[in-house]
Amino acid sequence: MSERSTTPDSDSPATNFVRELVEADVKAGKARGRVGTRFPPEPNGYLHIGHAKSICLNFGLAQKFGGTCNLRLDDTNPLAESEEYVRSIIEDVHWLGFDFGERLYFASDYFLQIYEWAEQLVRQGKAYVDDRGLEEIRSSRGNFYAVGQESPYRSRSIEENLDLLKRMRAGEFGDGERVLRAKIDMSSANQNMRDPVMYRIRHATHHRTGDTWCLYPMYDWAHGLCDAIENITHSVCTLEFEDHRPLYDWFLLTLGIEGDKKPQQIEFARLNLTYTVLSKRRLQQLVEEKLVSSWDDPRMPTLAGMRRRGFTPESIRKFCDQIGVSKREGTVEVQLLEFIQREDLNQRCRRAMGVLRPLKVTIENWPSDRTEYVELLNHPEYPERGTRRVPFSGTLFVEQDDFREVAPPKWYRLTPGQEVRLRGACLVTCKSVRKDADGKVVELRCEYDPNSWGGQAPDGRRVKGTLHWVSAAHAVDAEVRLYDRLFSTEYPMAGPEGTNWRNAVNQNSLEICPDAKLEASLASAPVLDRLQLERLGYFCVDRETTPERVVLNRTLELKDAWAKLEKKLGCP
Ligand code: ATP
Ligand code: MG
Repeated sequence: MSERSTTPDSDSPATNFVRELVEADVKAGKARGRVGTRFPPEPNGYLHIGHAKSICLNFGLAQKFGGTCNLRLDDTNPLAESEEYVRSIIEDVHWLGFDFGERLYFASDYFLQIYEWAEQLVRQGKAYVDDRGLEEIRSSRGNFYAVGQESPYRSRSIEENLDLLKRMRAGEFGDGERVLRAKIDMSSANQNMRDPVMYRIRHATHHRTGDTWCLYPMYDWAHGLCDAIENITHSVCTLEFEDHRPLYDWFLLTLGIEGDKKPQQIEFARLNLTYTVLSKRRLQQLVEEKLVSSWDDPRMPTLAGMRRRGFTPESIRKFCDQIGVSKREGTVEVQLLEFIQREDLNQRCRRAMGVLRPLKVTIENWPSDRTEYVELLNHPEYPERGTRRVPFSGTLFVEQDDFREVAPPKWYRLTPGQEVRLRGACLVTCKSVRKDADGKVVELRCEYDPNSWGGQAPDGRRVKGTLHWVSAAHAVDAEVRLYDRLFSTEYPMAGPEGTNWRNAVNQNSLEICPDAKLEASLASAPVLDRLQLERLGYFCVDRETTPERVVLNRTLELKDAWAKLEKKLGCP
């Protein structure tokens, strides 16, 4: 990856309730005013835009209060995790503009300490080995209406529990044969407190610890301990963990981790976006079922996909700032993200010309060996960003869409007999067309007005249409990929438990223009370079670019085509 974004504002404008809570703690002198946060992804997939919200919040808190924010890989489940995911997470956090310096940690580095704490709980009589399978344990846990049933193994002696736990660790038992459970309260109104499982047996090779362990800790057991080990003061997570907070606190307090040493869990509402699913499990299904090409497919809401599509880290951070942080679940319209993105790209992108679906134009009165250069501004609002020289010749490509043999009313583009402006160059009139055997128009024969060089009519006659073009002899071959939303409904997860979300996948979300032509200046554009193709939108150079062929992804159209369409259809 060649790009590193600018540093985020240490003082993002919007405050929020989490910030206020932390501020109150700092003022009250909790942990002597120190603030330590962490972003704790499980490396079981790529980060998505929802994670960006959490990253901005956690790193933002550390910046605001002069504290620290750790990147912690929560790698407690070897079956789902991999080094590839670890690498992608590190890359994406950096790309988003956050620097965790040396503060890169792995939950697996604490496995021994976590295990020793488990023995401690056993010795305190606060944990026991249950010989039943997970299924049986689950079914005896009761539900909202019924209290749970105590396990027949609950009253084992401390010695027996300790012996069994050690043998579990030593690998004496098979997967699922035994678990370690906390001994709390099977009749608690909070089901998380009904003797939750702490350890399960899994004879699986871990991507970092190899075969050292066959016991792997459950999230609830490990998470608060990792926080405590790293001296986290505020453990910020999403709302679904609210009911787990009593358990988070119980583990820490029972182990004697209290006062300033005990991290405080604070929950906020996760980000949901329209026309999108944000769940690593579902995104993984999209990849596995080949509904997209990869985790970084430009249609994916992953940070890797958005980067490849051409989104900027600055605009993603700005989006996270604008949506704010609250305690109430809601869904943000994806148009807001796109609006912020467009504003950013409009400012930063240089302009260029390219033709997606080329139609050959021959200018009959142009000397066949003559090439002229048109000097065009790289950015209309910033002349200081310079100009470039774009070659013009007697054989050009224009957009097929810019020609109609029979023109509809108010058609200002190419049609036989109508004069148009070729951007920055001259005025041309289509005199005749050539067709192939199937009757398809394959070439326009045009004449140019030699007195219109520069694009202005000498007599001031009005020419309404201005078209983009590329000189054939100088053109760079390109494949251009146009994207539509990955889902065709606003709430793909609507319906009972989102059962039908895959039906909401938009079958036409990718359109490839294999024969596109770009102006010569784009011949050596580097991967991830962003630009605006005039009239066509914002684009980003794809990593599949080769010396023979540039591959461009369209980030967004210039205007919100959806808003226009919805208006036309009379949608509110
Ligand atoms: P997913 O449901 O996509 O798998 P997760 O919560 O299982 O997400 P983790 O790797 O555990 O993924 O998430 C790391 C952190 O990011 C957690 O603190 C989690 O709360 C936060 N996070 C995950 N999804 C979102 C979201 N949509 N909005 C805000 N924060 C999120
Ligand atoms: Mg999770």
